[in-house]
Amino acid sequence: MLHVGTGYDVHALVTERKLILGGVEIPHSKGLDGHSDADVLMHAICDAILGALGESDIGHFFPNTDPRWRNAPSKLFLQEAARQVTFRGGKIINIDSTLIAQEPKLMRHIPEMKSHLAEALNIHPKQIGIKATTNENLGFIGREEGIAAIAVAGVDLPENY
Ligand code: MG
Repeated sequence: MLHVGTGYDVHALVTERKLILGGVEIPHSKGLDGHSDADVLMHAICDAILGALGESDIGHFFPNTDPRWRNAPSKLFLQEAARQVTFRGGKIINIDSTLIAQEPKLMRHIPEMKSHLAEALNIHPKQIGIKATTNENLGFIGREEGIAAIAVAGVDLPENY
């Protein structure tokens, strides 16, 4: 049976942090603030997968009050989401996502992001969609105060998962 989940995440842009999106370190004057590596794309995708399972968000699995996850690579979170699917006898069918960032331009990094995500989730890069859009200079994203990501996941689950 097809189960669908959605995910959303946002982190603030600050100086003296690396910008990591989809597991790729992107050269930029600012990076995303957060307890882990603040990879909004991976976080949104995690929540989409967990949502398809009817589970709580990643904060439930990896509390940001736990020092173990300080500066943790978000790949760990994705691997856990994938493990939750496998544990239920399920399979990720596809992921689709959108990064919303005024700057920098992200298009050329998308193939590398896909390969990182595919590896963490143990699926084929073709099963992953990533788009990037600006926010047309509107609001906090338009003012380059933060970057957001939205994602949807399709997961095939057995009837008695
Ligand atoms: Mg987050």
